[in-house]
Amino acid sequence: MTAIVAFDQDCRSRNCYDLDSVRADFPILSRTVYDKPLRFLDNGASAQKPRAVIDAIKNSYTSEYANVHRGAHFLSGAATEAYEGVREKVASLLNASSPDTIVFTKNVTEAINLVAFSWAETFLDAGDEIVITEMEHHANIVPWQILKERKGLILRIAPVEDDGRFDLDRFAAILNDHTKLVSVPHVSNVLGTVVPIAEVTRLAKEKGACVLIDGAQGIVHQAVDVQALGCDFYAFTGHKLYGPTGIGVLYGKTERLVSMPPWQGGGDMIETVSFNGSVYAEPPMRFEAGTPPFVQAIGLGAAIDYVQGIGIDAIDAHEQYLRDYAFDALRDVPDVRLIGEDPTKAAIMSFIVDGIHSMDVGAVLDRQGLAVRVGHHCAQPLMARMGVEATVRASMALYNTTEEIDALAAGIRHAQKLLG
Ligand SMILES: *Cc1c(COP(=O)(O)O)cnc(C)c1O
Repeated sequence: MTAIVAFDQDCRSRNCYDLDSVRADFPILSRTVYDKPLRFLDNGASAQKPRAVIDAIKNSYTSEYANVHRGAHFLSGAATEAYEGVREKVASLLNASSPDTIVFTKNVTEAINLVAFSWAETFLDAGDEIVITEMEHHANIVPWQILKERKGLILRIAPVEDDGRFDLDRFAAILNDHTKLVSVPHVSNVLGTVVPIAEVTRLAKEKGACVLIDGAQGIVHQAVDVQALGCDFYAFTGHKLYGPTGIGVLYGKTERLVSMPPWQGGGDMIETVSFNGSVYAEPPMRFEAGTPPFVQAIGLGAAIDYVQGIGIDAIDAHEQYLRDYAFDALRDVPDVRLIGEDPTKAAIMSFIVDGIHSMDVGAVLDRQGLAVRVGHHCAQPLMARMGVEATVRASMALYNTTEEIDALAAGIRHAQKLLG
């Protein structure tokens, strides 16, 4: 614990927060695994939940539960108000022009699929080009491949540099008059690389292309202003932003959303239905068929309040500090090769240990109470590009400490002693 205090002193000048009290907000962080303190460094896969989120979900089920948008009774009204209140909260988080630009989905994967099978399905034709990058999560590859097969589209891949950097010039060189959609990650879930999404959007707009940003990792680490960016779509997933599973968000510009047909049919997305045909609701309801995950949305609302209470800039500063500390700590360990070395990246550290399989490194770390992810991280093409089959990934969140990074470095040394 002394290390945490020392860190706080170090960080106070950087406008950080009281790490001990923040950690106390997350019940799971005080548990042990294998009689060791849990050191949770797998936040890129999913983040832990503060008590405020757990309580909001519990309160919804214990005191305010009824289906939204339907009943003419007190509880349904309360649940509807809470659900629609989160839509406003998300709009404000993204600085979107209106809550009507916010569609709730079950995760970012579903948000990307919505764009693919409503917008792109309707507006793209054979020969049109979609640009993605080499650092894509499978969620931003496979939907476009499905559509490519159906419609004869062309998929172009913007390259990543050897050190994990995104090269804007090489990206720009791929754009042409056939480019209809540019879909890029805000932050790579493997490399941590921050894609310059403002410049990417500007370049894409010069070609008249539509822009979708996969913000699954980006929203967690940085403030986002969709109006300043000018992107058409921005998608993220609640469970990586300290919210529950089962809730995601698609922001869409109003003129895009109103032009798009529904992609799923059912209750809640219609104005009227008869056997002669149905009239669809306006966005965002048009894209929310069936009972929405409103309890999960309420949990997401509590997560957004929590993050904004600490301050996204303070979180960003803390995570940059952890990143710099982790760069030093991991470079100090012999035979560790970092995958993704952009110095301005997010605090997501992927690496391999020469001579030891990543699975084995992960297993040794696990026994030390260190939770990391091992594998291809749903980014097999990126693994191929970087010439590795798998990596170990330590991904930091607002509650991680330098002491945990020291433990990670010590754990790798231990693995080398055991297995090297
Ligand atoms: C996690 C992640 C996804 C997928 O998130 P889901 O919640 O599984 O939909 C997509 N893109 C990136 C960059 C991610 O990190």
